[in-house]
Amino acid sequence: MTVQHSSARGSTHIDSPRGFSGTGDTNQLNPMFARAGEATDFPLNRLPEGESLGETAYQIVHDEAMLDGNARLNLATFVGTWMDPYATRLYSESADKNMVDKDEYPQTAAIETRCWNMLASLWNAPDTDNAIGTSTIGSSEACMLGGLAMKRRWQLARRAEGRSTEKPNLILSSAVQVCWEKFCNYWDVEARYVPITDEHKVLDGHELEKYVDENTIGVVAIMGVTYTGMYEPVAQIAAALDKIQADTGLDVKIHVDGASGAMIAPFLQPELEWDFRVDRVISISTSAHKYGLVYPGLGWVVWRSVDDLPKELVFDVTYLGGHMPSFALNFSRPGAQVLLQYYLFLRLGWDGYYKVQKASQDVAVYLSGEIGKMPAFELWNDGTDIPVFAWQLAKGHTDKWNLYHLSERLRLKGWLIPAYPMPDDLTDLTVQRIVVRNGLSRNLAESLIVDITEAVDYLDRLESPMPTEGLVSSFTH
Ligand SMILES: *Cc1c(COP(=O)(O)O)cnc(C)c1O
Repeated sequence: MTVQHSSARGSTHIDSPRGFSGTGDTNQLNPMFARAGEATDFPLNRLPEGESLGETAYQIVHDEAMLDGNARLNLATFVGTWMDPYATRLYSESADKNMVDKDEYPQTAAIETRCWNMLASLWNAPDTDNAIGTSTIGSSEACMLGGLAMKRRWQLARRAEGRSTEKPNLILSSAVQVCWEKFCNYWDVEARYVPITDEHKVLDGHELEKYVDENTIGVVAIMGVTYTGMYEPVAQIAAALDKIQADTGLDVKIHVDGASGAMIAPFLQPELEWDFRVDRVISISTSAHKYGLVYPGLGWVVWRSVDDLPKELVFDVTYLGGHMPSFALNFSRPGAQVLLQYYLFLRLGWDGYYKVQKASQDVAVYLSGEIGKMPAFELWNDGTDIPVFAWQLAKGHTDKWNLYHLSERLRLKGWLIPAYPMPDDLTDLTVQRIVVRNGLSRNLAESLIVDITEAVDYLDRLESPMPTEGLVSSFTH
């Protein structure tokens, strides 16, 4: 793949708006796929020596991207794969904005503030004027910031008491998203994983006192566990911590990782108390690019009050001649997504978000109902928390195939539906999961059920087992 390019090509082939150079050079003729460079290979891992025509380079990149899976059929991802044409227009109009240039783009900065203020009130902050938040590149950065604030608060309190800050620990479910493992690794915090089991499918406060001590910087509660889509009962976890405080005096706070659920629960389960209504919840993060319905590249984190975000972590940036607090890991990052979020907040409002999320939930419940009826499967959950559910193979159903084989068969039809092992203590259990997002219509869902039924029929007719060598989950959470 290292065919040499004539470095003169860029200069001899003059791009013409009509696709015709008038030099008699047939490489310049339309129709497409006959342009200079298309008959030769570009070097894959070295910068080409010469230029190429914009059209040629475009076509080559466009064609390669075609080999990716179809984003709309990607039922593995939580991340938005569809926005309406107005959003697309706004996106291309604002692709040039850098979020960090608050002074140069004061209106985008003001819109960012409006957005997290809306979220603070959506999440029932007791005093929204006193809450503080920021946009981030996604939940991972938002979780890092939430975790760092917890760690710093703990350090400050320990130092004030003249005690050691050597060994901070954080308590989380064994089914946390990988960003929390990174947080603990990058910032030297001991991760204390509470294993999930068949009896305790999520972190629910059970035996929490065995994990909490004076070095605990906080507890992470997940609204929408990545593996299964289930909510962790935040109020119940808080009640367990109340009891621990009564017994030991330790006052441990909660960060809610609401990557998915923080944009579902306010609409579909408004009675459920998981947010700032629970006193121990100090900060909440979400991925705007998941059920916030924005294209990839945006998250949010909000603290209950400015006092909960240690001032030492906040930098001052000048903004319209004034000052603006900034707490972020990145410097430059796209500003367009913030405008897209604001567009959706205006466009949909509470009612619109309710309708979109409800439609996804209806499809999830339909799919889990159909899959649950199939004798081959047992549901792990049904998609009534966030519109995500997982299932396992029914015990004793077959020794000929497993869920990885089913995943492969469905891929033949274009569906991307991952199978993977559950986390520690349940690693023997393989599940398969569907994430229903805006854009997976009931119609498509019905086609999916037909395809799953056919795939299962095929696999069940096998007379000898499918090979299992080399079958590994390439899926990462
Ligand atoms: C997706 C996810 C994350 C990471 O979010 P990104 O926006 O992809 O960085 C963190 N926690 C949970 C529970 C998630 O589902």
